[in-house]
Amino acid sequence: MIDKRTASFMRSLCMGDIEEELIHPYPEPRAGEAETLRAVFATLRSMLGAREKDFVAWDRAGEMPRAFVDELRQAGLFGLVVPEAYGGLGFGSTAYSRCLQEIARYDGSVALTVGAHSSIGMRGLLLYGTEEQRARWLPRLATGELIAAFCLTEPAAGSDAASIKTTAVRDGDDWILNGEKIWITNGGIADFFTVFAKTSLEGRGHITAFVVTRDMKGVATGPHEDKMGIRASSTTTVSLEDVRVPAANVLGEVGKGFKVAMHILNAGRTGLGGGSVGGMKRIIELAGAQARDRQQFGRPIARFEAVQQKLGQMVIDCYVSESVVNLVAGLADRGYEDYAVEAAISKVMATEALWRTADEALQIAGGGGFMRELPYERILRDVRINRIFEGTNDVLRLFIALAAVNDVAQELKDLGAGMKGIFDDPIKGFGLLSDYAKRRARLATGLRRTKGKWTLLHPSLEAEAGVFEAGATELARAADRILRKHGKGIIEAQLATRRLADIMIDLFGLAAVLSRVSWRIDEAGPEAAATEREILRAYAAQARRRVDETFACIDDNPDSTVKALADHVTELGRYPWDNV
Ligand SMILES: Cc1cc2nc3c(=O)[nH]c(=O)nc-3n(C[C@H](O)[C@H](O)[C@H](O)COP(=O)(O)OP(=O)(O)OC[C@H]3O[C@@H](n4cnc5c(N)ncnc54)[C@H](O)[C@@H]3O)c2cc1C
Repeated sequence: MIDKRTASFMRSLCMGDIEEELIHPYPEPRAGEAETLRAVFATLRSMLGAREKDFVAWDRAGEMPRAFVDELRQAGLFGLVVPEAYGGLGFGSTAYSRCLQEIARYDGSVALTVGAHSSIGMRGLLLYGTEEQRARWLPRLATGELIAAFCLTEPAAGSDAASIKTTAVRDGDDWILNGEKIWITNGGIADFFTVFAKTSLEGRGHITAFVVTRDMKGVATGPHEDKMGIRASSTTTVSLEDVRVPAANVLGEVGKGFKVAMHILNAGRTGLGGGSVGGMKRIIELAGAQARDRQQFGRPIARFEAVQQKLGQMVIDCYVSESVVNLVAGLADRGYEDYAVEAAISKVMATEALWRTADEALQIAGGGGFMRELPYERILRDVRINRIFEGTNDVLRLFIALAAVNDVAQELKDLGAGMKGIFDDPIKGFGLLSDYAKRRARLATGLRRTKGKWTLLHPSLEAEAGVFEAGATELARAADRILRKHGKGIIEAQLATRRLADIMIDLFGLAAVLSRVSWRIDEAGPEAAATEREILRAYAAQARRRVDETFACIDDNPDSTVKALADHVTELGRYPWDNV
């Protein structure tokens, strides 16, 4: 019997178990949602379809006109995830992610404006709000009368979010907030801010989440930041000077705000993932047309293998990312609570695939791709941020590897407690890993492999299922090897944990595509699914090769030289081998 609070496909996989019920059947939008989605897509087409010139102009100007934000309001785009009872469309994660995909096909700034509101700005209210709090704000958030923003980052606290300095000091029934948040998406247009502040002045942690509204005295937002990409979306500082916030505006428990922040970011990842997939689909259309229409050496460049390789890889990347993002959204919709590792994988995979896709599309467009007349340079600028915000992909890779090895099911509760607070107190969390290493060794010799094989896949996928199973064995061995090699020191062994994460990312991608293609064959028959079957075959081969290479690098690598070179240039402050 699966425990929906604790079950996690990737955590189990690190123990050698394939919990296939978690990812079968491949998810679809809930009954009734598909119809609503089609209606929303039609609205998007008529509203955004002919706006390319505007998007270009707003990118140059670095701002989106207020009148256009009103159009987004009128189209109901701020109510996508608000329950119907409060006036929204009540989309689940699968439908929401699909909707952001569609918006991102038109423009990154528009997708971000809508996404930051729904994915993270008001998510804390949805996840932790009391009935009173929900009734108070959700109806106005649904219409966009209130636009929401998520305020965590500060000048000295980015990836290390637990080190924020904004304070909240109790004063009677109120809290007094002071501090400055930076780079807040929607800052300039929002009236509803989910703000994280320290409610204890001692040490790290003790953070609390508050709803702050623009009408409170002492709330101010700065000018729009002049950014590289997504320039039309609003990014500003949010400063809080002696802001009096009623205790009734606390989201969740006092002192548990770090957990609230991480939960919001996890739950919101399918929005960013969906946006990335939508971006890829649009770029594939552009690059396909470019390759078909551009002639060189007497034929369309689409007929050269080097160009075909780029386009074909874009399709594989998009299909795999889409499968992963949908699978994670499905986990959320089916009520699984512990999908943080899978959600982080989906963010890393989709945002990196989008970046590669945008880069290769520009390459296919050649010199024209570098000119501002064509859309590629803007797209490339727009998509770069995705690898940085909502957790940098580098830090997420550490989280993926460490959080996954953390959970060795119920039996390792003590380790779990330490590792859950890994970013609060990494030393304590990692200290517990020596116990883990011992237990892991015992498990490896005892071969607790009750679920080492797929049983729910279509029989014709046996070969690729075999690739996955072999990779899963390699993952368990890699985790063992890395933990034994580094023990407590694993916290500093980032190159090793990164390798573990890379193996996990490829394996989850493969699991998602296996689940999807199997479902397609069952639904539509082998012939209709033939091309998707080929995508699976190609990705399985690529993933297998990468996993093997990564595994081989665990023991045989130039890591010590690379680190020494980094230390050398950091100390010296320059590249020292210039020969003139
Ligand atoms: C356009 C834009 C919009 C944003 N919107 C919002 C928003 O709406 N709300 C909000 O709260 N924030 C927002 N942010 C902030 C964003 O989430 C942060 O930029 C991000 O979390 C990274 O923090 P940082 O920029 O301070 O980088 P840093 O944390 O200083 O990291 C710098 C580099 O060091 C690496 N690094 C850091 N720590 C480690 C480690 N332990 N191990 C290995 N490598 C490490 C990082 O991966 C990165 O490469 C936005 C940022 C931008 C640019």
